[in-house]
Amino acid sequence: MATEELQVIGGEWYWGVRCPECGAMAAHVPDPSRGQGDSKMTTGKPGEAQVTMTCPNGHRFSAQTENLLRFEWGAQ
Ligand SMILES: [Zn+2]
Repeated sequence: MATEELQVIGGEWYWGVRCPECGAMAAHVPDPSRGQGDSKMTTGKPGEAQVTMTCPNGHRFSAQTENLLRFEWGAQ
């Protein structure tokens, strides 16, 4: 099964969550609103409650989509 590799760009906004192992932010999908307004995550698949992500340090983990946060890559 192919893993979708997200190409992250510094200064862009993403939906993601903090890696439980190392604390680095892992991006799941881009946030087209760049953190502005009352945006919902629109690029996720409807009904998909859990997603698998890989953090920048290579840890794979699952996260609930409802726990995803918007963040600016490289701002931490
Ligand atoms: Zn990690």
